[in-house]
Amino acid sequence: MDEQPSSKTWGKPIKCRAAVSRQPGEPLVIEEITVAPPMAREVRIRIVCTSLCHSDVTFWKMKDYPAIFPRIFGHEAMGIVESVGEGVDEVTEGDSVIPFFMSDCGECIDCRSKKSNLCSNLPFKVSPYMHRHETSRFTDLKGEVLYHFLFVSSFSEYTVVDIAHVTKIDPSIPPNRECLLSCGVSTGVGAAWRTANVETGSTVAIFGLGSIGLAVAEGARLCGATKIIGVDLNPDKFEIGKKFGVTEFVNAGECGNKTVSQVINEITGGGADYCFECVGLASLVQEAYACCRKGWGKTIVVGVDKPGSKLSLSSFDVLHSGKTLMGSLFGGLKAKTDIPILLKRYLDKELQLDEFVTHEVKFEDINKAFDLLIKGESLRCVIWMDK
Ligand code: NAD
Ligand code: ZN
Ligand code: ZN
Repeated sequence: MDEQPSSKTWGKPIKCRAAVSRQPGEPLVIEEITVAPPMAREVRIRIVCTSLCHSDVTFWKMKDYPAIFPRIFGHEAMGIVESVGEGVDEVTEGDSVIPFFMSDCGECIDCRSKKSNLCSNLPFKVSPYMHRHETSRFTDLKGEVLYHFLFVSSFSEYTVVDIAHVTKIDPSIPPNRECLLSCGVSTGVGAAWRTANVETGSTVAIFGLGSIGLAVAEGARLCGATKIIGVDLNPDKFEIGKKFGVTEFVNAGECGNKTVSQVINEITGGGADYCFECVGLASLVQEAYACCRKGWGKTIVVGVDKPGSKLSLSSFDVLHSGKTLMGSLFGGLKAKTDIPILLKRYLDKELQLDEFVTHEVKFEDINKAFDLLIKGESLRCVIWMDK
């Protein structure tokens, strides 16, 4: 006989609080909402804590498609499984889990290849719905649909996530550290480790020293990079950057009559081995490409620019310079295998996580997290659902 789930809420809708974004750029509103039970291959999760990533801010500000409102943002989180839908045996009620925005189905040609994390069974897109069933699990008190974000929607006490977007984790690690691996830190460390495959002794340039850029520095440091140049407009980021292994700083606003790429080409004597764009501006991708080493340099695009923005590179330069330009979603990581590896490296005191958490707030104060990130005052602000 099947074991009976003990949860009182199993198979039933749950009423709980969520921070709903009703209008672009307007403060989130804490409302009571209904979260439907998980459908087949889905998991309902009680969120313990979540943090704010710049990608939430980008889509919260955006007025046109793929922006859609009312929406529940949040895609960096940690939680506990409340119940599972049909066909889920990988996790069970009470398990500590990390949800993530890149599907890891484990079955398709890409998930089985070491070369890619771009699942083709459930390909990445900025969808307003659950990945597999293309419907929402959230409604407001009037019964109107609330849209999902990046298949996670963690700014809610409960959320529903596809099993391809969930990994079970060691419950002994503090939730306010675990949640960082749900997006930001994994993305940055992975970009250096998996996408770029930074080599010992190499020189790295990082455009943008938010959590993503600093996690690239952390990943590059772990890979043995010796020179790590950080570029930002905010000089405060250099002091912070030193903790993550940034060895030199270029203030993008104080390069005089030179471009940032000219300054970096001078410092490095012909370009950095690896350049990472971690701001989200096509113009900075061009700058990064212009100061990566000819012959073997790699430029990695991590930042998210506005939909439709275009890069402009001279085909002559591309032909003659022999450089590589790569995109990196979720740091090229396969979430189900790589998140546990990174958590172990944290437990082994190799990977720094504590330093990324600069602020912590209660759920009611979620809008403060937005203010802090937009003003450049925080790296990660952890939002506790139940404190
Ligand atoms: P953040 O706001 O914390 O950091 C951005 C940094 O860029 C800030 O320090 C800011 O001062 C700096 N900056 C802004 N304009 C600049 C300029 N012109 N020159 C140099 N520095 C500049 O953001 P974050 O959370 O670290 O996210 C960074 C980017 O990474 C965002 O675009 C985000 O959407 C993207 N992201 C991508 C992935 C992915 O899978 N590829 C995952 C998460 C986040
Ligand atoms: Zn993110
Ligand atoms: Zn897949």
